Amino acid sequence: MRRLALVTNMFVRNICSLSKSLFYHYNTMASKTNSIIGEPVPRVTRSAIKRKLSSSVEQSAALSTDNFSKESETLKTPKKISVVKAESKDKPYKKEKPTEEETCDPDSGLANSKSKGRKARSEGSAHKDLKGNGKLSKVIKEKATKSAKTASETSVTKSTVPKPEMVIPEIVIPINKPSIKREDGPSPWNGTIKYDNKIFLGAHISAAGGLENAIKNAMNIGASSFALFVKNQRQWVSKPMEDGTVERFKAACAENNFSPHLILPHGSYLMNCGSNDPTVLAKSRANLLDEVQRCERLGILYYNIHPGSSCGKGSREEAIKSISDSINWVHDQTPGSKVSIVLENMCRQGFTIGGDFSDLAEIIQQVFDHSRIGVCLDTCHALAAGYDLATCQGFDSFLEEFERVIGFRYLVAVHLNDSEGEVGCHRDRHASIGKGKIGIEGFRRIINCPRFRDIPVVLETPFISDDHYKQEILLLKSLAQSGTICA
Ligand SMILES: [Zn+2]
Ligand SMILES: [Zn+2]
Repeated sequence: MRRLALVTNMFVRNICSLSKSLFYHYNTMASKTNSIIGEPVPRVTRSAIKRKLSSSVEQSAALSTDNFSKESETLKTPKKISVVKAESKDKPYKKEKPTEEETCDPDSGLANSKSKGRKARSEGSAHKDLKGNGKLSKVIKEKATKSAKTASETSVTKSTVPKPEMVIPEIVIPINKPSIKREDGPSPWNGTIKYDNKIFLGAHISAAGGLENAIKNAMNIGASSFALFVKNQRQWVSKPMEDGTVERFKAACAENNFSPHLILPHGSYLMNCGSNDPTVLAKSRANLLDEVQRCERLGILYYNIHPGSSCGKGSREEAIKSISDSINWVHDQTPGSKVSIVLENMCRQGFTIGGDFSDLAEIIQQVFDHSRIGVCLDTCHALAAGYDLATCQGFDSFLEEFERVIGFRYLVAVHLNDSEGEVGCHRDRHASIGKGKIGIEGFRRIINCPRFRDIPVVLETPFISDDHYKQEILLLKSLAQSGTICA
C-alpha cells in the first residue's frame, strides 16, 4: 500500500509539472500573438491552474491515467477558461456577425430590426475635444485605462505577467474652424431669424402630394417646427423639384411663420457614407449632395442624416473618415450654401457610427467647415445607447458628456421619442411620449432644460393619427414649467 501511495504521489507531481510548463508556454504564445494587435492578453490564470491542480490532487487516488491526460488537456485549452477581453476600438458594438439589415442599411434603427441587446464597446477611441484643449483625449484615455482594468479584473484574479499598454493614437486637428453661434441672422424668406429662448415642438410629418402640404399638416397638429423627407427616402433617385413646388413651399412657410431653422429634413435611409463599397459610397455621396441642394433651393438651413456604418467590413476609423470626407466633398460642391449637415446620434446597434458622442465629435473634427455641421439628439437612440435620460442623475451626466465631448453649440435639433427598450439595449424602438422607458418625468426634465430652446424639437413617435401627435404636443406643453415658453 505504501509503495502504491508513493507511486501515485510521484505521478501527480509529474502531471503538475507538465501542466505548469503548458501554462507557461500558452501564456508566452498568447502574449506574443495579442501584443501585435494591441489587445489585452487572454491568460490562463495561476489561480485557475491552482484550482485545477488542487482538485487534481484531491481526486488523484480516483483518477486513472486517461483522466489525467484529459485534465491536462483542459488546462492547455484556453477557451475552457473564462476570459474577458477588452474590445479594441476597431471592433463593432457587438461581436457576432451582423444581420444584412444592420450592415447594409445604416438606418438600422428602423423599428423592424430584430437585433437583440449588444455588448457595449469599450471606450477605446482617442480624440481631442472640439475646443482642441485635449480634454477629451485625456478623458478617453482614463476611460480606456479603467475599461482595460475592469476587463482585466474580471478575467484574471492575480497575474504576475505585466499588462500590455493600450495605444492611444493622437489625432491632428485641422485649424481655422469656426464654430456655430446661435445669433439672429437673415432668413431665406422671412426677414430675420430671431432666437428668443422658446421651445419649438413639432413632429415628422408627411409631405405626400407635394412638399407644401407638409406645412398644412404641421399646422394641423399644432406644431411650431417639423421634420419631413424632401424626396422619397427609399429611392436613390427622385425627379428634380419643380420651381412651382419650391415657391409654394417657401410661401407656405413664410405665411405660417415657420422659420427656416425650425424645419429639419431627414436624409434618405439608403445612404451609407461610411461604406467601403465603392458603389454604395458613390451613390450615397450623390444622394447627400442632391438632398443638400434640394434643401438649399427650399431655403432650409439644416438637413439631418444618420452618419453611416462600417458594415463590419472596415474599421470604425475608416468609416468615420469616409463620412467626414463625404461631408467635406459636399461642402466643396456647394460653396456659399448655408445648409448644415446634421449628424444624428445612434443607438450603438451593430456597426453603426454615432452611438458614442465621441464618434460624432470625431466626424466634426475632421470636417473643415464647422459653420455647416451640427448634431441632432434623438432621445430614444441616446437611451438605447446607454445614456439614461430617465433619471435625474442620468440626465445630468448626459448633459455633461454632451457638452464635454461635442459641445451644445453644435446641437441644432432634437428628435423627441420615448424608448420601448431599456437603457443600453441598443435597439431602436420608438415609443409614444410617456409610454416607454424615458417616461413623463424624463420628458419633463428635457422640456424644461434650457439646452433645447430655439431649435426644432420634433416627435418621431409611432404615427397613430394627426390627432395623436396633437395630443402628444399638448402633453409636452403641459410639462413646461413657468419660465419655459412653448412657441
Ligand atoms: Zn433618423
Ligand atoms: Zn431620430
